[in-house]
Amino acid sequence: MEMGFATAVELATAIQQGKTTAVEAMEAVLARIGETEELYNCYVTVDRERALQKAEAVQKRIQAGEPAGPLAGVPVAIKDNLHVAGLPTTCSSRILASYRPTFSAEAVRRLEQAGAVVVGKTNMDEFAMGSTTETSAWGVTRNPWNPGHVPGGSSGGSAAAVAAGECFLALGSDTGGSVRQPASHCGVVGMKPTYGTVSRYGLVAYGSSLDQVGPLARTVEDCAAVLEVIAARDEKDSTSLAREDTDFTKALVQDVQGMRIGIPRDYFGQGLDEEVKEAVLEAAALLGQQGALVEEFDLDLVDYAVPAYYTIAAAEASSNLERFDGVKYGYRAAEAEELHQMYKRTRSRGFGPEVKRRIMLGSFVLSAGYYDAYYLKALKVKAMIKAAFDQAFARYDCIVSPVAPTTAPGLGESLQDPLRMYLGDIYTVSANLAGLPAISLPCGVDQKGLPIGLQLMGDCFQEKKLLRVAYTYGQLTQDKMPAGIPGQFVQGAKTVSCPKDQIEKAAVAEAHAPGKGGM
Ligand code: GLN
Repeated sequence: MEMGFATAVELATAIQQGKTTAVEAMEAVLARIGETEELYNCYVTVDRERALQKAEAVQKRIQAGEPAGPLAGVPVAIKDNLHVAGLPTTCSSRILASYRPTFSAEAVRRLEQAGAVVVGKTNMDEFAMGSTTETSAWGVTRNPWNPGHVPGGSSGGSAAAVAAGECFLALGSDTGGSVRQPASHCGVVGMKPTYGTVSRYGLVAYGSSLDQVGPLARTVEDCAAVLEVIAARDEKDSTSLAREDTDFTKALVQDVQGMRIGIPRDYFGQGLDEEVKEAVLEAAALLGQQGALVEEFDLDLVDYAVPAYYTIAAAEASSNLERFDGVKYGYRAAEAEELHQMYKRTRSRGFGPEVKRRIMLGSFVLSAGYYDAYYLKALKVKAMIKAAFDQAFARYDCIVSPVAPTTAPGLGESLQDPLRMYLGDIYTVSANLAGLPAISLPCGVDQKGLPIGLQLMGDCFQEKKLLRVAYTYGQLTQDKMPAGIPGQFVQGAKTVSCPKDQIEKAAVAEAHAPGKGGM
């Protein structure tokens, strides 16, 4: 079987039919990693031995005729803030460089139970704070479409790995867009489900009221297949929900006849790149041609979404990250004389600049005297945003928008101007603030050859409507949108020399070396 850029569903079927095996699939992915990983740096950890052993075990189950699960033998990559028993979880941070969890995240456990085989852990912005994967302590991941550009973030390693053929599926986490935006920048499909649909057990918390685990995949069908597997009530996460409508693959119907689609006028104003705007509006028009009722409408409060999000996310992060103090997990500064000095040194050295900025901002907005002015106000804005969406979804089945104002920025561009980077989250953060499901899928390529993403947002629990619209669009455009990167990009990429990457790789190897205390 020609494996290269097959979809996960195609691969699972081929394995079931005996046309290939779980081991062959894993070997193909590992070979691909061997060719391209040095340049792309999608992974923080790849455990070949474990991956091949697990693939063998799945293959044995299949050969014995035992039920091996809908994703049996499919190689999957896991973002490095989701625990996989036996592999390190670093959150791409020095402070967790030596941390090994003793258990797997519930989403990972469910994927493995469905037969998927973990390849390794993917690179990310440190503690999922960022939009480019450049805040990783282990060096940036490069965009497979053009290695001079970032893959987006924070789940940049997961998105790039799917796009580059270094896995068939991946999991990411989305607090303010971190699954959808890198999916958009890497030309793959990414979905954030309704808050509470997937258990957060075993996901290292960033903004607990916003965090959701979501799939990254080559097609809408693959995305639905993963979501169907990972969506479930979990006793270990009190915010997870018992839903009865998680048979998401049933929603893959090519028909949008009569569906009401809204285009929020305010999302298409200043700051939006012309090419992105055109591609997204063209996509909406195509859905209109298929019988959907497409119209523009006013969605207030757009300008307040980013400030409210960064206030709430930073507040929650400052509290969540208190636990990394050198006592319980990972790195501890060695030469401190007393407890407070140890805390201070550990955190000063262990966290990178973006994480420190968020902790300071979060502590500030929660502090006495500023709590009402900032944190409480942000919560009120959040409630107003939710109300505005409630109103919109009384009229529309789904809202169409861009995922990000531009395609993937060049390496290094965003780090110089964090505020601009924050503003780039304008189209994604509202779904998290309001707990809504949203999906990002490719809708074109700009003149630089970088992918453009289309976002569909739905009301709470309306994933099926989103999947139906996304599937319809995907079917109509499948010839236009390559699943993964075209061959010539890979060829071209191989010739790019990257001494900096090699240096960064060496730093990672050093950080993971035993006896280094994680630093
Ligand atoms: N870019 C946003 C942030 O930095 C979103 C990150 C995320 O979803 N994890 O907070």
